[in-house]
This record gives sequence, C-alpha cells and structure tokens, in this order.
Amino acid sequence: MLSSNHNDFVKSRTRMVEEQLVPRGITDKRVLDTMARIPRHVFVEDALQGQAYGDFALPIGDGQTISQPYIVALMTQALNLQGHEKVLEIGTGCGYQTTILAQLCEQVYTVERLKSLYIKSRKRFDQLHCFNVRSKIDDGTLGWKENGPYDAIIVTASGPEIPASLVEQLAEQGTMVIPVGPRATQELKVLTKQDQGIKTSTIEHVRFVSLIGAQGWGQ
Ligand code: SAH
Repeated sequence: MLSSNHNDFVKSRTRMVEEQLVPRGITDKRVLDTMARIPRHVFVEDALQGQAYGDFALPIGDGQTISQPYIVALMTQALNLQGHEKVLEIGTGCGYQTTILAQLCEQVYTVERLKSLYIKSRKRFDQLHCFNVRSKIDDGTLGWKENGPYDAIIVTASGPEIPASLVEQLAEQGTMVIPVGPRATQELKVLTKQDQGIKTSTIEHVRFVSLIGAQGWGQ
C-alpha cells in the first residue's frame, strides 16, 4: 500500500502544476504531465522534502540550488522536445532537471563539475530507471564534444556570456536555453541555429548560481 506521505506528495505535485506552471504560461502538455509525475522531493535532503513542491529554489549542498519548478518548466518547454532528440545539459546538480529531460527526449548527456553532486545524482538516475542519461564530472563550459552535435542544449548555471564551445556543439536547427549576465541577475536566453544564422531572444529574468569554468566565471 502507498503511504499517506506518498499521497501528500502526489497532491502537492498536482497543485504545483496547476498553481505555478499553468497560470504562468506553461502549455506543453508533455512538460506538464512529466512534472506532475516525477517525484521532486527525492532530489532534496530529507529535512527539505516538505518544501520540495514550493514556488522557490532550494539548497542541494555545496552552495548550489535546485531551480524553482516554474524555471525548470519554462526552460524545458523552450527546447520544444518531441522525443527523438539528443540533449546536452550543463550543471547536473541534484539531477531533477536531467530526469525531466530524460522523459522527453531520446538521450541526455549531463555534465557536473562537483563530484559530490555527480555521485548523488547518478544514484537517483539509477533508482528512477533513467537509463538514457550519461553523466560525467567535468567543466561543462567546454561541452561534451565526442557526443555532439546536440539537438538541444540546456545550461542551468549562469556565466558572463554564451560559451563558444556550446554554440559549436549545437546542431543546425538546434535550440539552446541558457541564463547569461552578471552574477546577481541574468537574462534567460533562447538561442536557435538556423540557416540564416544564430538568433537569440530573452524569455525571462532569472537568478542562477554561477557557471564556473574556462568559458564561464573564474573560480
Ligand atoms: N539543474 C540543476 C541546477 C543545479 S545548480 C538542478 O536542478 O539541481 C547549477 C549546477 O551547475 C551546480 O550543481 C554547479 O556545480 C554546476 N556547475 C557550475 N559550473 C559548471 C561547469 N562549468 N560545468 C558543469 N557544471 C557546472
């Protein structure tokens, strides 16, 4: 039998979708269905599980955070995934965003610079049977060249500019979503590679932890 705790989490998740995502313009049904299904509370420490479906970011250790549900939904929707794509994620963190992506595309490659987060997220991918996720510890500002080009790239930490290596590894007709700007606040940019060249637009103002690496901020 499922515990009452489990039922509470299911309710919180439904409420999260109805109150935080739909009213703010998340319309992609696959994204909404996936976020209603994936247990977000397993990605945070036990003491924070009761807050996992709140309308905010939460700490995940090492000074890093799991993004607010709305931002996860917005970034995922911006990639317009249909199911056949190869996606590169930079900044695995707790692995929640990765797990959402894994439901919506064919294969996810994800890079995290901190070993402790890499190890914890890897365990969660196995527990949740995300067999289409490959992860590694590295400086993600340089991408993951061997497996490129990628149909979609998502960066969940912010640097001063869009790393050139990531633009290079984005496939023709591909889409990248990335926060860019000063350390305090940034613009969430959507970049598309089209026949006419590269097009970028800003879809939201955000606050992310720093992207630290060769093509990001220094240490
Ligand atoms: N999507 C994650 C967000 C975690 S915060 C989640 O839902 O939990 C951003 C993450 O980016 C942190 O874990 C941080 O360590 C990582 N990061 C920062 N710079 C990086 C880099 N150059 N390469 C890979 N990961 C990086």
